Amino acid sequence: GPRQPILSSKNFTDLVRESAERNTSGTTLYRLGYARYEFLVTGGLTAATLLAERCVATHASPLLLNKPIPIDVTSVAGIVKLSITTDPSHLLGFLITAAEAAREANAATMLYDSRMKLVHERSFKILNSIKLALASKDQLHLVFQPRVRVSDGAIIGAEALLRWSHPELGNLPPAEFIPIAEQTSFMSLITDWVVEKNGLRQIATWQRCFRPFKLSINISAMDLCRLDFVERVVVSLARHGVPPSAIELEITEGALVQSPEAASTALDQLRNAGISVAIDDFGSGFSNLAQLHRFPVDVLKIDRTLISSILASEQDALIVRSAIEFAHALGYTVVAEGVEDQTLYAVLEQSLCDEIQGYYVSRPMTAEAFEKWIRQHSACRLREQEG
Ligand code: C2E
Ligand code: MG
Ligand code: MG
Repeated sequence: GPRQPILSSKNFTDLVRESAERNTSGTTLYRLGYARYEFLVTGGLTAATLLAERCVATHASPLLLNKPIPIDVTSVAGIVKLSITTDPSHLLGFLITAAEAAREANAATMLYDSRMKLVHERSFKILNSIKLALASKDQLHLVFQPRVRVSDGAIIGAEALLRWSHPELGNLPPAEFIPIAEQTSFMSLITDWVVEKNGLRQIATWQRCFRPFKLSINISAMDLCRLDFVERVVVSLARHGVPPSAIELEITEGALVQSPEAASTALDQLRNAGISVAIDDFGSGFSNLAQLHRFPVDVLKIDRTLISSILASEQDALIVRSAIEFAHALGYTVVAEGVEDQTLYAVLEQSLCDEIQGYYVSRPMTAEAFEKWIRQHSACRLREQEG
């Protein structure tokens, strides 16, 4: 698959099919995921490697796809040698592991071998424990990180972030288990747990004490492709007695451009339902404001990696300033993520950034700690205003 999933699946399918047709005769192409394909090659390792290398090479130059903006794609291939002892139920996992190993090593192709097994076994274990975690009472919980308005320090809302304390593996960071879950349909179960079971329940409670207040919830590319996703959220909002204006959904730019048709449909439905949408992690990879303005979103969250480099890099500071300016011209609210200190806060204030999220304001907190924090914070602000 491409490193940045930025093609519609149709374009990608056409592309891979074309390359497959060019390189093989009589090889069937199986689709494993959004941008994951599998070939069965007879003729041994040499034939397989040759085919894989040719496929990868066809994506070496930027794609044009009838658009003026060239799109860079990095594709990699994992190879698994099949034998009579290969357990077919492990094949997909082996392929994914080998492809990920190729990506990590910056290699075009990689042959699966048992040394990769450790990594693979951990992912496998994580995948296999998701269902149990979702059903358990104490493995998963949400923490909340406040988002503050720069102009007056008001608390605009909070982002809900998932935590998993795994009975064997300990505390698993979402950066590890979410990408694993995203390769399967477990991701939609996780989203439903976060949104319907927990996020909305929490905001229903908080609405009564802190208002106006918005809870921001992360969703994944796969959710946008679920035909009933928006409807489920709307039904769930009604069930919890929460107005749509009390939540915001965060979607990474990768997810938007990965399947633009599905994303456009879902974003229109969300807008009609009165639910606002934020683009998450802007500037963390391939970023294209010119392309993003096509999507009806409300908020642009600039990624920590870009934000944290603005003090050191003149150029990154310029990128952030122009992104803020451009986003404002498009009517977006701009949030800086991962602001860790006062200096950065001051620079962002000068750059007219609207809102801040980061350790400088607060680390993510449990629901109880968050309630305490918000009371203290409001009391401080009142005293400041009086004094
Ligand atoms: P994200 O949505 O960009 O969330 C912000 C991440 O930055 C969080 O990491 C947060 O703890 C961290 N962070 C906030 N301020 C600072 C700071 O000042 N310094 C540093 N170093 N880090 C800061 P976390 O909670 O580990 O989550 C990582 C990612 O996992 C999230 O990035 C999001 O993409 C994903 N994720 C977390 N919870 C969920 C969820 O419920 N659903 C989905 N689909 N993804 C989630
Ligand atoms: Mg987020
Ligand atoms: Mg982010």
